[in-house]
Amino acid sequence: MTNAPDIGNKIKKIYHCPICKKTHEIFFQSDFANNRSKYPFSYVFLHKYENSENIEDKDKEILTTIYVDAQLNIRGVEALLNEDDTNILSKDISKEIIGKLTRFILELQDEHEILIKKFNDLEKKCEELSKP
Ligand SMILES: [Zn+2]
Repeated sequence: MTNAPDIGNKIKKIYHCPICKKTHEIFFQSDFANNRSKYPFSYVFLHKYENSENIEDKDKEILTTIYVDAQLNIRGVEALLNEDDTNILSKDISKEIIGKLTRFILELQDEHEILIKKFNDLEKKCEELSKP
């Protein structure tokens, strides 16, 4: 691992957001797609609603799921906005968010296991190498 600044390693990608009806930019580390349990893998995050015509919507956040392949290309985009005026999420939206996050967590668990296995293999190799 190096201490080089991250900026040089970041890869810019764009995706079209079905809710803002705009193209957004996203930056990935060059190794972002490494060691995933499957491809395309999903990446879940929130972004602010970018729709300048509607001031009421400016604080709303959009739950975004993007599907990224091994070459860091964005293969799919899903976006969810809570349309309700209240801060309480509607039942359907909540269910969908929970479903997406659950899938995301399961993928992260798989990836974690892959990394642990690699780490253990490396540790074993190190031990063998350090034997007299
Ligand atoms: Zn958007």
